[in-house]
Parts: sequence; C-alpha cells; structure tokens
Amino acid sequence: MIQERLQSTYGVGVIACLGLHPWWVSRQSDSQLIAAVDVFAKLAPQASGIGEIGLDHSSRYQDPESRRLQSVAIQRALEIVQKIQKPLVLHVVQAHSEMLTLLDQWGPFPRGGMIHGFSGSLEIARAYMKRGFLISIGKGILKPGFVQLKKAAPLLPENKILLETDSHEPATLLTVAEALSVIRKCNAPELLTKTSLNLRRLFEIKGP
Ligand SMILES: [Zn+2]
Repeated sequence: MIQERLQSTYGVGVIACLGLHPWWVSRQSDSQLIAAVDVFAKLAPQASGIGEIGLDHSSRYQDPESRRLQSVAIQRALEIVQKIQKPLVLHVVQAHSEMLTLLDQWGPFPRGGMIHGFSGSLEIARAYMKRGFLISIGKGILKPGFVQLKKAAPLLPENKILLETDSHEPATLLTVAEALSVIRKCNAPELLTKTSLNLRRLFEIKGP
C-alpha cells in the first residue's frame, strides 16, 4: 500500500490515511464495491486516519447509481470506523446536510476529523465543529468566487482550522496560508504554526 511505503520512508511527517473515495466508489459495480469494503475493513485498523470518504453530489456524480454506490460506501465505512475509532477525512461536495445526518446516525465519532477542501458556509462549518470536526481550507481560498468560504473563514476559531493543498506540491501551502492570513487579518507564519498544532492534535502525533 502506497500510504504504508510513504510512512515507512518519511516517518512521523506522513500521516497514512485509508479511504473509499466517492469518485472511485461511483465507478464500481456492486461486487467490486463489496470486495473493496472487505479490504478496507481489514486494513483500516492500521491507518492513522480514515479518508477520503464522503459524498460528492456535484453534477458529475448526480446520476442515481453513483449516488447509491456512494451512500452504500460511506455507510459501510462509518460503521467500520465506529468500531475502530479513527479521525475521519471527509470529502463532501453539495451534500452537507446528507453527511451531517449520516454522522448523527452512525456517530458520535469521538476522534473527530476534518472536512477537507471546505467551501461551505459558516453555519455548515459550525455544524461540523459541533460534532468534533476541523475545517480544512485549501486552494478555494485562492480562487475567484468561493464567497461562502471567504465569508466564513475570518470567523472560524483558530483551533478549528487546518490548511491543505490537496496536492503533493508543498509550496502551495504557503500560498494558502498567506491568502487566509490576509482574510483573517493575522500573521501567516503564526497561522501555519497554529494549524499544524491542530493537525497534530487531531491525529495525536507525538514527537518532533
Ligand atoms: Zn477530496
């Protein structure tokens, strides 16, 4: 598994997560999905976190079959996580109310998690924070539009924010931190330090 190799090569700097990504899930047959859930159930206890898992109801995935497969996968994943308790990395696009309902149905999830690439409103962010989730802000903050995110970003508590690139290009993290620090009227290096502490707390990372 690539996550395991990365972790053994780079040590504590890499958090290996394991998930059933909704994009991938949408393209499977029922039998392929069942097989993947079995593998996931076996490997999940070794992962530092579970994800990406989630729901993507954007136009590319609006056909009933892909939504059905996504619904099966996320429910199976949440059921498994409920037994092993790991932080969740959630991919949620245009499906926040459905996801919040599922979190309440299968939760609570005491280890919490993160809503990756968040672009929703402050109200939605608060609903996730209430359930123990951190709000992860990525490249949306750099792009035109993303009005709700830009309105919510200055009002999120500092101990609830993570930064992300959603890519393997680490330099972008600095760009995200700089853009967010302008919106929040704070200092970018401090924001990087505080958000990295949030990440360490979430995944219970000890040591340097
Ligand atoms: Zn994603």
